[in-house]
Amino acid sequence: MSHSHYDVVIVGGGINGIGLLRDLSLHGVNALIIERGEFCSETSQYSSKMLHGGIRYLESLDFELVFEALREKNTWLKLLPQYAMRAKFHIPVYDHSPHNIVTTSLGSLLYGLLASGNDPIYLPISAKKTLELFPLLNADGLQGTARYEDAYMDDYGLGMANLQDALLQNPSNQAWAYSELRGMETKSTHEGTTYELTLAQKNSSQKIITAHSVIFCTGPFTDQMMNHLKIPWINCLRPSRGSHLWLDSKSLSLPHPMVMQDKSGRVIFLMPRGNKVLLGTTEKSIDPKNIDQEKFITQEETDYLLDCLRFYFPKINISTQDILAKYSGIRPLVVSRPEDNISSQSDVGKISRHHKIFEPLNNVFVLVGGKYTTFRVMVQDIAQTLCNRRKIPYSKKKTLNPLQGWGG
Ligand SMILES: Cc1cc2nc3c(=O)[nH]c(=O)nc-3n(C[C@H](O)[C@H](O)[C@H](O)COP(=O)(O)OP(=O)(O)OC[C@H]3O[C@@H](n4cnc5c(N)ncnc54)[C@H](O)[C@@H]3O)c2cc1C
Repeated sequence: MSHSHYDVVIVGGGINGIGLLRDLSLHGVNALIIERGEFCSETSQYSSKMLHGGIRYLESLDFELVFEALREKNTWLKLLPQYAMRAKFHIPVYDHSPHNIVTTSLGSLLYGLLASGNDPIYLPISAKKTLELFPLLNADGLQGTARYEDAYMDDYGLGMANLQDALLQNPSNQAWAYSELRGMETKSTHEGTTYELTLAQKNSSQKIITAHSVIFCTGPFTDQMMNHLKIPWINCLRPSRGSHLWLDSKSLSLPHPMVMQDKSGRVIFLMPRGNKVLLGTTEKSIDPKNIDQEKFITQEETDYLLDCLRFYFPKINISTQDILAKYSGIRPLVVSRPEDNISSQSDVGKISRHHKIFEPLNNVFVLVGGKYTTFRVMVQDIAQTLCNRRKIPYSKKKTLNPLQGWGG
């Protein structure tokens, strides 16, 4: 059994844990990040892979979230163009769509304006022009197509580039994969409170480490983790599964990403990526106590996605044979506002994508919720508090520095 001490220990090596490590590294704070599997092996690898403001949040008038996310999208387009790519998204509008072509185009115009001049603004195109671009699209009742600029990403690549930069910026900081936190005890010493953490590591016995501060970035596993460690905690997650299909572009060739809507108006994306097309996603509320058992796509979800695709492309004979791969991610949605008191499955999509930060014990922080796109700003409040408590000057601009090894 070995023993060592770290100033800050971050638990969870998804994008939020990694983003926090990079911010702390840039400010000279001693930190270790531990991850029970591979880095970016859970939600941060199973997203819909969009760096976006979230055009659908305009419907809930969440301008602040959209504005911030659009700004962050443009930050990563500049900092890591290897992993973030611009794309022109197309929204075909039909007679039965929830909004007509004028309203939808005004929405995409407003979305473009919220990007503060960083994104081009596109006018809608007619039904005729739409069918020239997408000849196999359903022409029945098609009014035209609204368009807007957004981006897609390699979520795993972007995460790993941030991790590499964090470790290069401060070589004394460390990142341990296959290190699962199993226990945490509070110890009072003459220097104040420290936390003793018991880790289970791959191919080795238990490891005990101590830390002044412990930060949980455990995504959808957070409620489980807090309950297991007996940290004072009110459960706040309403996890939901989002599933995707990778299709062969031989069956469905697309020049641009497309935003489709199911019969209830729910948004589903179709994104061409090389010789594949990504189709997703679903939104299925799951049992928070059984996340590991519930993270797999069901036949019902596959049928739902393919049915939506068949409506938009009735001439394509798409079948399960065209599916190259499937994956699901679990959204760590936070339910803590009275208006988020969700009662039915159909309401899950309305839960806010804002993040929340808690401090259930002195110097123990928990970060949950949010979106991949906004991770850099989501971790700033915790990084700033940790720096302030150590009397280290903090600058929010440091994480805008180019990443080492990535054109920096
Ligand atoms: C289906 C879906 C689609 C999405 N699409 C988008 C999108 O297109 N754009 C966007 O901006 N956002 C999107 N999101 C949101 C985004 O993916 C998440 O907000 C983000 O990835 C969450 O990152 P995280 O670091 O909090 O969680 P995670 O990536 O899940 O990381 C948490 C980590 O904690 C680790 N962990 C858990 N317990 C322990 C333990 N005891 N010890 C050590 N480690 C532990 C886990 O192994 C895991 O790696 C999507 C989410 C989903 C589910």
